[in-house]
Amino acid sequence: MFTLPPLPYANDALEPYISQETIQFHSGKHHQTYVDNLNKLVPASEYENLSLEEIIGKAPLGPVFNNAAQIWNHTFYFDSLGPHANHIPSKELYEAIDKRWGNMDTFMAEFTIKALANFGSGWTWLVKKTDGSLDIINTSNALTPLTTEDLPLLTCDVWEHAYYIDYRNARAKYMENFWKVVNWKKISERYE
Ligand code: MN
Repeated sequence: MFTLPPLPYANDALEPYISQETIQFHSGKHHQTYVDNLNKLVPASEYENLSLEEIIGKAPLGPVFNNAAQIWNHTFYFDSLGPHANHIPSKELYEAIDKRWGNMDTFMAEFTIKALANFGSGWTWLVKKTDGSLDIINTSNALTPLTTEDLPLLTCDVWEHAYYIDYRNARAKYMENFWKVVNWKKISERYE
């Protein structure tokens, strides 16, 4: 049986950028529902006894893949965030961002543009390519770079449920505040 991984911070830790109510719904209802759905789909199927990552790698597009990938994507998203603490990237990650985009502001602006252009529901990712370079990619619905050779470093959930309570339909406002709670310490660990 899969369980909802505990958040690495309190429900109100991302206030005022992401409210306690949003976290309660996003983690406690949406993320939990993917866990509950997968636990109904997997028993007595070919996926029984496989890890979450194995299921994501094996299942064709459909309910099993969608629920498994959404569990993984959400855990990765919540682990990408943390209380506002003026975190900055490690020297190594900063240099890689600098090499690709010239500076942090340009990187964040390009990531934001990509997230705003992600049509409908999906995810925007900072990934490390196999050659070590960085890139920003969009995935739709439950799709995840986990099934590709790209190593995910950071993700932003741009499904409307991630921001509707706090920002209604204003994805741009959500993006502006998303940067205030990115845990660069965590993203740097993933890069190294
Ligand atoms: Mn979500």
